[in-house]
Amino acid sequence: MKNSDIPAIEGGTPVRDTVLPYATQWIRNEEIQAVVEVLKSGWLTSGPKIPEFESALAEVAGAKHAVAVNSGTASLAVSAAAIGLGPDDEAVVPSLTFAATAFAVLYTGANLVLADISEDTYNIDPAEIERKITPKTKAVLPVHYAGNPCDMDAVTRIAREHDLSIIEDAAHAIGASWKGTPIGAIGDLTCHSFHAIKNVTCGEGGAVTTDSDELRKRLTSLRYFGLSADTWQRARTDRPWLYHIEELGFKCNMMDIQAALGIVQLKRIDEFKKRRAEIVDTYNKAFAAEEAIITPTVTDGAESALHLYVIRLRPETLRADRDQALRALHAENIRANIHYLPLHLHPYFQRAFDFKRGDFPVTERVADNIITIPLFPKMTDADTRSVIDALTRIIDYYRA
Ligand SMILES: *Cc1c(COP(=O)(O)O)cnc(C)c1O
Repeated sequence: MKNSDIPAIEGGTPVRDTVLPYATQWIRNEEIQAVVEVLKSGWLTSGPKIPEFESALAEVAGAKHAVAVNSGTASLAVSAAAIGLGPDDEAVVPSLTFAATAFAVLYTGANLVLADISEDTYNIDPAEIERKITPKTKAVLPVHYAGNPCDMDAVTRIAREHDLSIIEDAAHAIGASWKGTPIGAIGDLTCHSFHAIKNVTCGEGGAVTTDSDELRKRLTSLRYFGLSADTWQRARTDRPWLYHIEELGFKCNMMDIQAALGIVQLKRIDEFKKRRAEIVDTYNKAFAAEEAIITPTVTDGAESALHLYVIRLRPETLRADRDQALRALHAENIRANIHYLPLHLHPYFQRAFDFKRGDFPVTERVADNIITIPLFPKMTDADTRSVIDALTRIIDYYRA
């Protein structure tokens, strides 16, 4: 075996000498200028940049309205509150997601009902939603995992039949579409994240998109103390000192600093998407004939936002498990990751709800063997090549 074939973790030379993250933002001069302009404007928090960002986002998401907040987590929390979820209700969430999807349900006092995923798409299994429905079920929160849309025909049909609200977790899915319709207003409320590693970033940020005038009004009030008008709007009236608290709200409004950054990023969404597609294509071709790797699929009828590239190892083909493969990739200076350790395997969810290993067999089979490899628009062809080379040498070395 040549030294170049030996993984770094086994004593070989790393494939690359600089560290490659699994995701990172791409900020250029235009973003920097836009933020500096806000800093110089004299109005830093929610101001004129918010409606501008909201219209740009509504357009991309194919929705009538967008309501900006300060994180994806907040977008889910205000959505759960806006549909009136409460202690007598249940909501269905896939176990393979980030904590925020489930926390949104729990903050309202509602009961969290987890569901298994489909083995091909890694999205919530529609049949599982149906199995989990009880007379108390009020909402379902499908997650468009890795940017790949859920079967929204199936989800919508089930929701209609059982009178459920749909809150889509589209934190990965800005720019994705289902049968030609953008992800943004298929469910009642669609939640977006603009965290630094998401496809479009505000540094931190989030938003809810919807076609409903009534829900838009609720969300706007809930994001700022349950007030009928925020400070910027009041500053434009003849009695700017007057406000009325109409309900128990949150404090999760977005700043103009964030919105200014987001406005520029949204303009670049097609460019970002094109570059993601090129990298995904290179990966798909490189791994197509590799029996140790299952490459990601896109749901029939969907266009993915290609947020994450998640490979699944076939453990029977290797002498190393997923964690060893991850350690080996880190030794090659490639910061691969896991999305996610399923919710039902986290200490908090096990303690609070009695979940245990074995509860969601498909989720576990998938989650035990997945690795998220680097995918972001700023990656060069050489970066992409280094990921392929590293994975190939690791798999060849540990092949059973
Ligand atoms: C990132 C993310 C969130 C939360 O978004 P933040 O902006 O980080 O609060 C929610 N759900 C999923 C699936 C995410 O990936």
